[in-house]
Amino acid sequence: MSKGKILVISGPSGAGKGTVVNRLLEIDDSVCLSISATTRNKREGEEHGVHYFYITKEDFLSKIEKGELLEYNCYNGNYYGTLKSYVDSLIESGKNVILEIDINGGFQIKEKCPEAVLIFLTAPSLEEIERRLRKRNTETDEVIAKRLEIAKAEIERSKEYDFVVYNEDIDKCAHNIIEIINM
Ligand code: 5GP
Repeated sequence: MSKGKILVISGPSGAGKGTVVNRLLEIDDSVCLSISATTRNKREGEEHGVHYFYITKEDFLSKIEKGELLEYNCYNGNYYGTLKSYVDSLIESGKNVILEIDINGGFQIKEKCPEAVLIFLTAPSLEEIERRLRKRNTETDEVIAKRLEIAKAEIERSKEYDFVVYNEDIDKCAHNIIEIINM
């Protein structure tokens, strides 16, 4: 069996990454999602082992030390990282693994795994990103403002990604990504 691919999907918070990734999982059996570890608090409706592995800062730092993370980043005061053994076992089993991670993590992956494909998923405009963040209604104004600042910086650096995909329509966007996977 041939090994699967690593597909990094990054993009501003509010670009609709989660929704598009869920659609990808529904329509393509070869695709699965890497579950990251994070030190951030669980949002309402999130589950340990489904959305993230929620761990303490102490545990996270120990994983960094032991080299158990393929990449990691501190985003808005919280650590997020990709578990190496988790991703390795999935690609070995022939799955195409999606890493829904931030742009700094994406560049770390490209350095370690040059064959990884980096996809930047974004909304049509910053105004649209802000509108989607507010609609989600899970974060304070201060957190939203910080996320918008990060989004601006990420959009600037997206030029270094292999592909930029605009999320105007979820199905279209998911099919564009499947075409990229099958290239
Ligand atoms: P959220 O708190 O909205 O779930 O995620 C915040 C940011 O962290 C998003 O841009 C998300 O893609 C990123 N992120 C999630 N998991 C990881 C990870 O394992 N590594 C890195 N570098 N970023 C991650």
